[in-house]
Amino acid sequence: MSLEIFDRLESEVRGYCRMFPDLFERAAGARLYTHDGREYLDFFSGAGALSYGHNHPRIQRALIDYLEAGGVTHALDMSTVAKRDFIRTFEAVILQPRGLDYKVQFPGPTGTNAVEAALKLARKVTGRSNVLCFTNGYHGMTLGALAVTGNSTNRAAAGVALGNTVAMPFDGYFGHGIDTLEYLETYLQDASSGLDKPAAAILETVQAEGGVHPASWDWLRRLAVLLAKHRILLIVDDIQAGCGRTGPFFSFEPAGIVPDIVCLSKSISGYGLPMALVLMRRELDCWKPGEHNGTFRGFNLAFVGARAALDFWRGEELQKAVEAAAEIVRRRLALIHRRYTEACGPPRGRGLLQGIPCTPAEVAGRVSRAAFERGLVVETCGAEEQVVKLLPPLTIDEPSLEMGLEILDTAFSDVLGADGEAGGSRSAAGPSPKGSPPEDGA
Ligand code: PMP
Repeated sequence: MSLEIFDRLESEVRGYCRMFPDLFERAAGARLYTHDGREYLDFFSGAGALSYGHNHPRIQRALIDYLEAGGVTHALDMSTVAKRDFIRTFEAVILQPRGLDYKVQFPGPTGTNAVEAALKLARKVTGRSNVLCFTNGYHGMTLGALAVTGNSTNRAAAGVALGNTVAMPFDGYFGHGIDTLEYLETYLQDASSGLDKPAAAILETVQAEGGVHPASWDWLRRLAVLLAKHRILLIVDDIQAGCGRTGPFFSFEPAGIVPDIVCLSKSISGYGLPMALVLMRRELDCWKPGEHNGTFRGFNLAFVGARAALDFWRGEELQKAVEAAAEIVRRRLALIHRRYTEACGPPRGRGLLQGIPCTPAEVAGRVSRAAFERGLVVETCGAEEQVVKLLPPLTIDEPSLEMGLEILDTAFSDVLGADGEAGGSRSAAGPSPKGSPPEDGA
């Protein structure tokens, strides 16, 4: 396998290919195949953009039919049948059953663009510039989104001052027993706190890139009440945690809150095609025509995929499947934690967005590499990449899920030793030749 052309011509900015150094060619469901036919189980799912797995046959069929019929592919924000059908289905399957009276904006097709649009809208509606964000939050790489992102490496790459935002402690940031909302409330109530009244607060209900930190339902509920009291808009960035990743379609549903603005992207198109949405309470829609523009807001192929993907949400089957799979993941991660209490913290997360924190931080990267060598793609996240993060497809079958967890478990043994002793020298099974599929590899 030669990756020489990438080294020679592609920018040093590339990242995931360094963690997963192979040449991929085909994919199906929870599996990736390399150019020479090696097979990997995929617990990464395009960083959450492939919740229904790779090339889901039903979505693929809808896309092929659309292309063959000569459907419009690119249409800026002109009205098309594909867009109409998506909006209609989104209203019928997602919004109406949940009693949500949102208007839908199609920003540029990336998550960060949805975040930019949401921030601009909140500032425009309120006439205020300041925005509250939270420690360990991640919202994208463009300047506005970076300004509400915690990670200092990401922020430094901006090359300019990132302003008009204030970071507050997320739920649990100071450890157990310290209520971070009391802290925020004190700031908001005190006219002399130095905090300029914010237009909005933006947050993920489960911080994904920042290290898999779920906010408790109670914290989310009290935050929503506090913000409403101070007339500060609540923006939920559901780009990674939404579209069923944590169980329900919207990650915030079990908290019973209704955000003023919601950002969606990643898995909304169902097929890894670029697409993003901003949902806003009807009365907030004060945009003037063209005020948030962009050439690729009308990628109709993504609308076709998204419409087909929404069929998964017509009943409760998928949500139940996610919850059942989540329990399997939780149990296995808890066993790993118990085996390596020194090196592995308690697992955390929600639905099929779960992680296990490692000490020292580098253990997580070593586990990810060992897993890759054994045929499993699984990434790390957190400020120091100290968390092994699992994002299997929501539609994964149980044997594949168990197989991936088995590989992960063995990867921990490779790195930490089979019986919990650090070092790995007494590992029961050494790494197999790079990328060789598991024996029973489906
Ligand atoms: N918000 C969240 C919560 C994300 O996880 C991401 C991507 N990891 C983004 C925003 C940015 O999305 P994109 O990479 O498509 O710009």
